[in-house]
Amino acid sequence: MQSASQIETREAVAAAGAVIRVEEAHKYYELGETRVHALRGVSVEIHRSEFLAIMGASGSGKSTFMNILGCLDRPSSGRYLLEGVDVSRHDKRALALIRNQKIGFVFQGFNLLARTTALENTELPTLYTKIEKAERRKRAVEALAMVGLADRAEHFPSQMSGGQQQRVAVARALVNRPSILLADEPTGNLDSRTSVEIMEVLQDLNDKGLTIVMVTHEHDIAQFAKRVIVFRDGKIRKDDAVTNRPRASEVLKTLPTLED
Ligand code: ADP
Ligand code: MG
Repeated sequence: MQSASQIETREAVAAAGAVIRVEEAHKYYELGETRVHALRGVSVEIHRSEFLAIMGASGSGKSTFMNILGCLDRPSSGRYLLEGVDVSRHDKRALALIRNQKIGFVFQGFNLLARTTALENTELPTLYTKIEKAERRKRAVEALAMVGLADRAEHFPSQMSGGQQQRVAVARALVNRPSILLADEPTGNLDSRTSVEIMEVLQDLNDKGLTIVMVTHEHDIAQFAKRVIVFRDGKIRKDDAVTNRPRASEVLKTLPTLED
Protein backbone atom coordinates (compact mmCIF):
# COMPACT_ATOMS: atom_id res chain seq x y z
CA MET A 1 0.00 0.00 0.00
CA GLN A 2 1.13 3.52 -0.70
CA SER A 3 0.46 6.30 1.74
CA ALA A 4 -1.39 9.40 0.62
CA SER A 5 1.78 11.43 1.06
CA GLN A 6 3.76 9.06 -1.19
CA ILE A 7 1.16 9.44 -3.92
CA GLU A 8 1.10 13.19 -3.46
CA THR A 9 4.87 13.36 -3.73
CA ARG A 10 4.84 11.26 -6.85
CA GLU A 11 2.20 13.42 -8.48
CA ALA A 12 3.97 16.62 -7.58
CA VAL A 13 7.17 15.38 -9.13
CA ALA A 14 5.45 13.99 -12.20
CA ALA A 15 3.76 17.35 -12.69
CA ALA A 16 7.11 19.07 -12.47
CA GLY A 17 8.45 16.57 -15.00
CA ALA A 18 11.46 15.42 -13.00
CA VAL A 19 12.31 11.90 -14.10
CA ILE A 20 15.30 11.85 -11.77
CA ARG A 21 15.76 13.63 -8.50
CA VAL A 22 18.87 13.01 -6.43
CA GLU A 23 19.06 14.66 -3.02
CA GLU A 24 22.34 15.00 -1.07
CA ALA A 25 23.64 11.61 -2.20
CA HIS A 26 26.77 10.28 -0.58
CA LYS A 27 28.48 7.04 -1.48
CA TYR A 28 31.14 5.28 0.58
CA TYR A 29 33.01 2.20 -0.52
CA GLU A 30 34.51 0.10 2.26
CA LEU A 31 37.90 -1.26 1.23
CA GLY A 32 39.24 -3.24 4.17
CA GLU A 33 40.40 -0.62 6.64
CA THR A 34 39.91 2.31 4.31
CA ARG A 35 36.77 4.04 3.29
CA VAL A 36 36.48 5.77 -0.09
CA HIS A 37 34.09 8.70 -0.13
CA ALA A 38 33.14 8.52 -3.82
CA LEU A 39 30.11 10.86 -3.83
CA ARG A 40 30.14 13.82 -1.46
CA GLY A 41 26.69 15.32 -1.45
CA VAL A 42 25.29 15.25 -4.98
CA SER A 43 21.94 16.85 -5.68
CA VAL A 44 20.48 17.10 -9.15
CA GLU A 45 17.17 17.09 -10.95
CA ILE A 46 16.80 15.75 -14.47
CA HIS A 47 13.63 16.43 -16.36
CA ARG A 48 11.78 14.52 -19.03
CA SER A 49 13.30 14.93 -22.50
CA GLU A 50 16.57 16.26 -21.15
CA PHE A 51 19.82 15.16 -22.74
CA LEU A 52 22.53 15.39 -20.12
CA ALA A 53 26.24 14.80 -20.58
CA ILE A 54 28.43 13.99 -17.57
CA MET A 55 32.11 14.85 -17.70
CA GLY A 56 34.94 14.82 -15.18
CA ALA A 57 38.37 13.32 -14.58
CA SER A 58 38.85 9.63 -13.93
CA GLY A 59 37.92 8.82 -10.33
CA SER A 60 35.62 11.85 -9.94
CA GLY A 61 32.54 9.70 -9.27
CA LYS A 62 30.82 9.51 -12.68
CA SER A 63 30.37 5.75 -12.75
CA THR A 64 29.32 5.66 -9.12
CA PHE A 65 26.68 8.24 -9.93
CA MET A 66 25.53 6.38 -13.07
CA ASN A 67 25.30 3.11 -11.12
CA ILE A 68 22.93 4.81 -8.71
CA LEU A 69 20.85 6.35 -11.51
CA GLY A 70 20.70 2.93 -13.17
CA CYS A 71 19.56 1.21 -9.95
CA LEU A 72 22.69 -0.96 -9.99
CA ASP A 73 23.68 0.44 -6.61
CA ARG A 74 22.24 2.58 -3.84
CA PRO A 75 23.52 5.76 -2.21
CA SER A 76 24.96 5.29 1.30
CA SER A 77 22.89 8.28 2.36
CA GLY A 78 20.61 10.75 0.65
CA ARG A 79 17.70 9.96 -1.63
CA TYR A 80 17.11 8.95 -5.22
CA LEU A 81 13.64 9.44 -6.63
CA LEU A 82 12.96 7.86 -10.01
CA GLU A 83 9.70 9.13 -11.50
CA GLY A 84 8.75 10.31 -8.04
CA VAL A 85 9.39 6.96 -6.33
CA ASP A 86 12.09 6.86 -3.66
CA VAL A 87 14.15 3.84 -4.69
CA SER A 88 17.14 4.59 -2.45
CA ARG A 89 16.18 1.96 0.15
CA HIS A 90 14.92 -0.68 -2.31
CA ASP A 91 16.55 -4.12 -1.98
CA LYS A 92 18.40 -5.80 -4.86
CA ARG A 93 15.35 -7.56 -6.19
CA ALA A 94 13.18 -4.46 -6.21
CA LEU A 95 15.99 -2.51 -7.90
CA ALA A 96 16.34 -5.19 -10.59
CA LEU A 97 12.64 -4.98 -11.35
CA ILE A 98 12.76 -1.18 -11.71
CA ARG A 99 15.90 -1.45 -13.80
CA ASN A 100 14.26 -3.81 -16.30
CA GLN A 101 11.19 -1.65 -16.65
CA LYS A 102 12.57 1.85 -16.58
CA ILE A 103 16.20 1.93 -17.63
CA GLY A 104 18.05 1.22 -20.83
CA PHE A 105 21.85 0.87 -20.73
CA VAL A 106 24.44 1.46 -23.44
CA PHE A 107 28.14 0.84 -22.72
CA GLN A 108 31.44 1.52 -24.42
CA GLY A 109 31.77 -2.10 -25.54
CA PHE A 110 28.69 -3.10 -27.48
CA ASN A 111 28.32 -6.43 -25.62
CA LEU A 112 26.32 -8.12 -28.37
CA LEU A 113 26.02 -11.90 -28.51
CA ALA A 114 28.18 -13.03 -31.43
CA ARG A 115 26.12 -15.91 -32.81
CA THR A 116 22.91 -13.98 -32.55
CA THR A 117 21.33 -11.71 -35.16
CA ALA A 118 20.72 -7.99 -34.69
CA LEU A 119 17.02 -8.69 -34.20
CA GLU A 120 17.60 -11.42 -31.61
CA ASN A 121 20.15 -9.28 -29.75
CA THR A 122 17.62 -6.47 -29.65
CA GLU A 123 14.89 -8.77 -28.40
CA LEU A 124 16.98 -10.17 -25.55
CA PRO A 125 15.85 -7.88 -22.68
CA THR A 126 12.19 -8.73 -23.41
CA LEU A 127 12.86 -12.36 -22.48
CA TYR A 128 12.80 -11.29 -18.82
CA THR A 129 9.35 -9.74 -19.15
CA LYS A 130 5.87 -11.20 -19.44
CA ILE A 131 5.38 -9.73 -22.90
CA GLU A 132 4.05 -12.26 -25.42
CA LYS A 133 6.29 -13.67 -28.11
CA ALA A 134 4.69 -11.92 -31.08
CA GLU A 135 4.71 -8.59 -29.25
CA ARG A 136 8.38 -9.09 -28.28
CA ARG A 137 9.32 -9.56 -31.91
CA LYS A 138 7.26 -6.54 -32.95
CA ARG A 139 8.98 -4.32 -30.37
CA ALA A 140 12.42 -5.52 -31.44
CA VAL A 141 11.61 -4.72 -35.09
CA GLU A 142 10.42 -1.26 -34.05
CA ALA A 143 13.50 -0.61 -31.92
CA LEU A 144 15.82 -1.55 -34.78
CA ALA A 145 13.87 0.77 -37.08
CA MET A 146 14.31 3.60 -34.54
CA VAL A 147 18.09 3.34 -34.85
CA GLY A 148 17.93 3.09 -38.66
CA LEU A 149 18.79 -0.62 -38.90
CA ALA A 150 15.52 -2.13 -40.10
CA ASP A 151 17.38 -3.59 -43.09
CA ARG A 152 20.06 -5.26 -40.93
CA ALA A 153 17.79 -7.38 -38.73
CA GLU A 154 19.25 -10.69 -39.86
CA HIS A 155 22.90 -9.61 -39.74
CA PHE A 156 25.28 -11.02 -37.15
CA PRO A 157 27.57 -8.66 -35.20
CA SER A 158 30.61 -9.78 -37.25
CA GLN A 159 28.80 -8.62 -40.39
CA MET A 160 28.30 -5.08 -39.04
CA SER A 161 30.55 -2.05 -38.50
CA GLY A 162 31.29 -0.80 -34.98
CA GLY A 163 28.78 2.00 -35.41
CA GLN A 164 26.08 -0.42 -36.54
CA GLN A 165 26.82 -2.69 -33.59
CA GLN A 166 26.49 0.22 -31.22
CA ARG A 167 23.16 1.10 -32.85
CA VAL A 168 21.98 -2.46 -32.19
CA ALA A 169 23.05 -1.96 -28.57
CA VAL A 170 20.93 1.23 -28.48
CA ALA A 171 17.96 -0.67 -29.97
CA ARG A 172 18.42 -3.37 -27.32
CA ALA A 173 18.42 -0.66 -24.62
CA LEU A 174 15.14 0.74 -25.99
CA VAL A 175 13.19 -2.46 -26.49
CA ASN A 176 11.54 -2.45 -23.06
CA ARG A 177 10.52 1.20 -23.61
CA PRO A 178 12.52 2.67 -20.72
CA SER A 179 11.96 6.07 -19.12
CA ILE A 180 15.67 6.86 -19.31
CA LEU A 181 18.60 5.84 -21.43
CA LEU A 182 21.95 5.71 -19.62
CA ALA A 183 25.02 5.66 -21.83
CA ASP A 184 28.51 5.26 -20.32
CA GLU A 185 31.11 6.36 -22.90
CA PRO A 186 28.95 5.17 -25.84
CA THR A 187 31.47 6.50 -28.38
CA GLY A 188 34.60 5.41 -26.51
CA ASN A 189 35.37 2.67 -29.06
CA LEU A 190 34.36 4.55 -32.20
CA ASP A 191 36.15 6.81 -34.70
CA SER A 192 35.03 10.43 -34.89
CA ARG A 193 32.59 10.17 -37.78
CA THR A 194 30.93 7.08 -36.32
CA SER A 195 30.75 8.83 -32.93
CA VAL A 196 28.79 11.67 -34.51
CA GLU A 197 26.51 9.10 -36.19
CA ILE A 198 25.71 7.68 -32.75
CA MET A 199 25.06 11.24 -31.50
CA GLU A 200 22.64 11.65 -34.44
CA VAL A 201 20.74 8.57 -33.23
CA LEU A 202 20.69 9.86 -29.63
CA GLN A 203 19.59 13.38 -30.65
CA ASP A 204 16.83 11.85 -32.77
CA LEU A 205 15.59 9.69 -29.88
CA ASN A 206 15.82 12.67 -27.53
CA ASP A 207 13.74 14.75 -29.99
CA LYS A 208 11.08 12.04 -29.68
CA GLY A 209 11.02 12.59 -25.91
CA LEU A 210 13.53 10.09 -24.53
CA THR A 211 15.50 11.26 -21.48
CA ILE A 212 19.22 10.56 -21.92
CA VAL A 213 22.16 10.69 -19.51
CA MET A 214 25.56 10.09 -21.13
CA VAL A 215 29.07 9.97 -19.70
CA THR A 216 31.80 11.13 -22.05
CA HIS A 217 35.43 12.20 -21.87
CA GLU A 218 35.18 14.15 -25.09
CA HIS A 219 34.17 17.78 -24.96
CA ASP A 220 33.02 17.72 -28.61
CA ILE A 221 30.68 14.81 -27.91
CA ALA A 222 29.27 16.46 -24.76
CA GLN A 223 28.23 19.47 -26.88
CA PHE A 224 25.57 17.35 -28.62
CA ALA A 225 23.72 17.13 -25.29
CA LYS A 226 21.49 19.91 -23.96
CA ARG A 227 23.20 20.21 -20.58
CA VAL A 228 26.66 19.34 -19.25
CA ILE A 229 27.49 18.46 -15.66
CA VAL A 230 31.11 18.24 -14.55
CA PHE A 231 32.10 16.08 -11.58
CA ARG A 232 35.17 16.71 -9.48
CA ASP A 233 36.13 14.82 -6.30
CA GLY A 234 32.66 13.34 -5.89
CA LYS A 235 30.82 16.62 -6.31
CA ILE A 236 29.11 18.46 -9.13
CA ARG A 237 31.36 21.44 -9.92
CA LYS A 238 29.60 22.76 -13.02
CA ASP A 239 26.11 22.42 -14.42
CA ASP A 240 25.50 24.38 -17.62
CA ALA A 241 23.10 24.42 -20.52
CA VAL A 242 24.78 23.91 -23.89
CA THR A 243 24.53 27.00 -26.06
CA ASN A 244 24.61 26.71 -29.85
CA ARG A 245 24.21 22.96 -29.70
CA PRO A 246 25.30 21.38 -32.98
CA ARG A 247 22.93 19.04 -34.82
CA ALA A 248 24.79 15.80 -35.45
CA SER A 249 23.00 15.38 -38.79
CA GLU A 250 24.44 18.75 -39.94
CA VAL A 251 27.93 18.02 -38.62
CA LEU A 252 27.95 14.73 -40.55
CA LYS A 253 27.58 16.63 -43.82
CA THR A 254 30.91 18.31 -43.12
CA LEU A 255 32.80 15.11 -42.21
CA PRO A 256 34.50 12.90 -44.78
CA THR A 257 32.99 9.47 -45.31
CA LEU A 258 35.06 6.29 -45.53
CA GLU A 259 34.91 6.40 -49.32
CA ASP A 260 36.45 9.91 -49.53
P1 ADP B 1 34.83 7.74 -12.52
O1 ADP B 1 33.77 6.91 -13.17
O2 ADP B 1 34.57 9.21 -12.59
O3 ADP B 1 36.19 7.40 -13.03
P2 ADP B 1 34.24 6.19 -10.12
O4 ADP B 1 32.84 6.50 -9.75
O5 ADP B 1 34.49 4.91 -10.81
O6 ADP B 1 34.84 7.44 -10.94
O7 ADP B 1 35.13 6.22 -8.81
C1 ADP B 1 35.05 7.22 -7.80
C2 ADP B 1 35.95 6.83 -6.63
O8 ADP B 1 35.44 5.66 -5.99
C3 ADP B 1 37.37 6.49 -7.04
O9 ADP B 1 38.22 6.91 -6.02
C4 ADP B 1 37.36 4.99 -7.14
O10 ADP B 1 38.63 4.45 -6.90
C5 ADP B 1 36.38 4.60 -6.05
N1 ADP B 1 35.62 3.36 -6.36
C6 ADP B 1 34.80 3.15 -7.42
N2 ADP B 1 34.24 1.94 -7.37
C7 ADP B 1 34.72 1.35 -6.25
C8 ADP B 1 34.52 0.07 -5.62
N3 ADP B 1 33.67 -0.83 -6.15
N4 ADP B 1 35.17 -0.17 -4.46
C9 ADP B 1 35.99 0.74 -3.93
N5 ADP B 1 36.23 1.96 -4.45
C10 ADP B 1 35.60 2.26 -5.59
MG1 MG C 1 33.97 5.52 -14.81
